[in-house]
Formats: sequence, C-alpha cells, structure tokens
Amino acid sequence: MASIETYDFKGKRAIIRVDFNVPLDENFNVTDDTRIRAAIPTIKKVLAGGGSVILMSHLGRPKEGPTDKFSLRHIIPALEKNLGVKVDFADDCIGSQASEKAAALKPGQVLLLENLRFYKEEEKGDEKFAEKLASLADCYINDAFGTAHRAHASTTIIAKFFPADKMFGYVMEGELKAIDKVLEAPERPFIAILGGAKVSTKITIIEKLFSKVDVLIAAGGMTYTIQAALGGKIGKSMCEKDQFDTALRMIEKAKEMGVKLVLAEDAVCISEFRNDAPTQICPANDIPDGWEGVDIGPKTRKKFAEVIENCKTILWNGPMGVFEMDNFAAGSKAVADAIAVATQKGAFSLIGGGDSVACINKFKMADKVSYNSTGGGALLEYIEGAELPGVAAIRK
Ligand code: AMP
Repeated sequence: MASIETYDFKGKRAIIRVDFNVPLDENFNVTDDTRIRAAIPTIKKVLAGGGSVILMSHLGRPKEGPTDKFSLRHIIPALEKNLGVKVDFADDCIGSQASEKAAALKPGQVLLLENLRFYKEEEKGDEKFAEKLASLADCYINDAFGTAHRAHASTTIIAKFFPADKMFGYVMEGELKAIDKVLEAPERPFIAILGGAKVSTKITIIEKLFSKVDVLIAAGGMTYTIQAALGGKIGKSMCEKDQFDTALRMIEKAKEMGVKLVLAEDAVCISEFRNDAPTQICPANDIPDGWEGVDIGPKTRKKFAEVIENCKTILWNGPMGVFEMDNFAAGSKAVADAIAVATQKGAFSLIGGGDSVACINKFKMADKVSYNSTGGGALLEYIEGAELPGVAAIRK
C-alpha cells in the first residue's frame, strides 16, 4: 500500500471513493455537509500535488437504477463551495462519457461521477464493474470509512487493480488511528457507554467489549429488556422478550470478567408517545402499566456522570433515550456533558455511530470530544475485531 502523504500525484488521475451520502431537503439542497467537508483535505492533497481527481460515491438507496432523486448532481454546489474549485460531472459512473471526461482531466481539475448504486454491480462487488471504474484512473484512494465494512466494487474490489497505487485518504486514516488508539493501548479506566434501542443489535459488541473495558454502561432502550429479564415491572416500555437469556448472560459475564456493569436506575416515563406528553420519574424496574421509559432519569444521570468523569478512555455508541424529541434528550445530554468534562481532564473520547454523533451535533458539542466517527456499522464491526474488507483491500 502507498501513503497519501508521500505519494507522487504529479500528472496522475486519482479516483477517490468518498462518502457523499448526505441528507437533502425537498429542493435537493444539502442540509448537512459534514461528510463533504470531511473529504476536502484528501481532495486538496491530490490537487496540490499536481494531480487530478475523480470522485465516486453512493447517495441513498436507489432501488431501480438511475433516479433523479438520488443523483449526485444535486451535491455539486455544496461541493464546489467547500472545495473552492469547479467540479465537472459525468451522468454515468462508467461508460464513454465518464472515460472521455476522465481522460481529459488536467492537473488541478475535479470530476464527480454519478451515483455508484445506480448499478446493482456496485453492492454485489462485481469485478467487471470495478475494473471499469479502475480504468478511469492511475491510483485509488479509499476515504469512505462508513462503507468500509462492505465488500462493494468501489470500496474493496477496485483495490486489486492498483496493487502499488492504492491508499487511504485522511478520513480513513483518522478513523483507523482513533479506533486503534482506543483498542490497542487504552489509558485506564476505559469505559464503554452503550445505548440505543435494542439488546439484540448490541449484544455481540457488548460481549466483545467485556475483554477490553473496565466499566460498561448499558442503557437506552436496552434498560427495559434487562430489567424485565431481572423480574422488574417495565409497563409498556420497549422490550425484547426473546432476549431475556441474553441479557442475563451479559450480567453474568460482566461479573466473570471483572467488568463493572452500570445500569439505569430510574427513567423518564410517558403514557403517550409525544414530545409534550406529561412525564413521571419511575424506578427503571417499577414502571406502571400503560407507561413507558423514554430517557434515563435524574438519579441515573448523576450516577453515570460520576463514573464517566473518572475515566481516561471513553467509547460512546447509542443514545440514552429518544433524543430526537427535545424533552427526552436530557439523559443523552448529561452523558455528553460528562464526556466533555472527562475529555477536558485529559481523557480520549471516541463517539461512534450515527445516532450518538447526531446527539453530539444536536448539542453542538462536536469540538468537546476527541473524535466523532463517521462510521456506525463499520465502527462496531471494527471494534468487534472483524477485518473490514475495505481496510484489508488497501493493507494487503
Ligand atoms: P440504535 O440504532 O440501536 O442505536 O437506536 C437508536 C434509537 O434508539 C434512537 O432513535 C432512539 O430514539 C431510540 N431509543 C433510545 N432509548 C429509547 C427508549 N428508552 N425507548 C425507545 N427508544 C429509544
């Protein structure tokens, strides 16, 4: 593998897999350009080195081939604004127009290809399709961490056509460095804070984390499955009845491995699912019939904050409650505040997964933590110890 830092881009065309899967409003304006801004340093590095750039990405989940709604054309204004360079566009990511435009690129120029997922071959990891993309360029840069856990044509398969001219971009490098820092030599105590909706989707990661962390908070919607499994009353809170054994095993395993497992003690409860519904605070294992827990309560917030503020390495994935509704975001805010305090005191904090990063952004605290990961699934799979196909394809 090559390095973006030392590679000679002079006169070369670099094809960069970026993550431009950004949210658009009904008029196709980009409503959050975080991912576009993240890709700029990598693009600028190639241009500054005397190369030209071909950008490829997916946008949304188009099911039926080319659809205007999912056209990457819509993001050009946001890209040009952030990059400060004019961007040409190819209506099709492969084919004669893309080839001609790519061949005509001069140093300093940028070409954006149409949505890769207009071809089923992309997600299938089709080799012929990958070869056509590869034929457009002299070197390949993967800068899309969010899709690195998928062996798609543009994220993985394409790398084989550039045995000596493949490398990570700065987004990828930053992600891998931040995660490795947490996994390889974490300063202790190391805490993982897991929230989100379900036990079933988090259990593998929780069990993997037991061998790495000193403290683990399991909260959010998982609270109620755990409390019900322990025989508590949870009203109509979200609950996965088929996960009771899993939840009990988790508690046992924490004991066996000497990990301090910290659970929610009280909950903000509502009887109607709306932001302005009347609330009451209940013990997490004694919620009246007809009521459901939607956030951690004040006692839990205090307890979690005390634990978090004393840790030196922090990994947070998954909100503490239904943070999308302002009235049930306070628990997640309390956790974010505690992470900020710990970070200020010198801890390294990694926030991962779409919802936790959305929380941090909602609270305007992105600069108060050490690292916001762009990857949800990719981050969790990497932490679980899986070799991500997109990472392996560059490294091997
Ligand atoms: P996940 O994708 O598993 O990380 O779950 C994130 C979702 O979990 C968010 O949309 C939250 O609204 C939701 N969530 C967190 N806590 C609760 C809860 N107590 N009750 C219902 N939903 C919750």
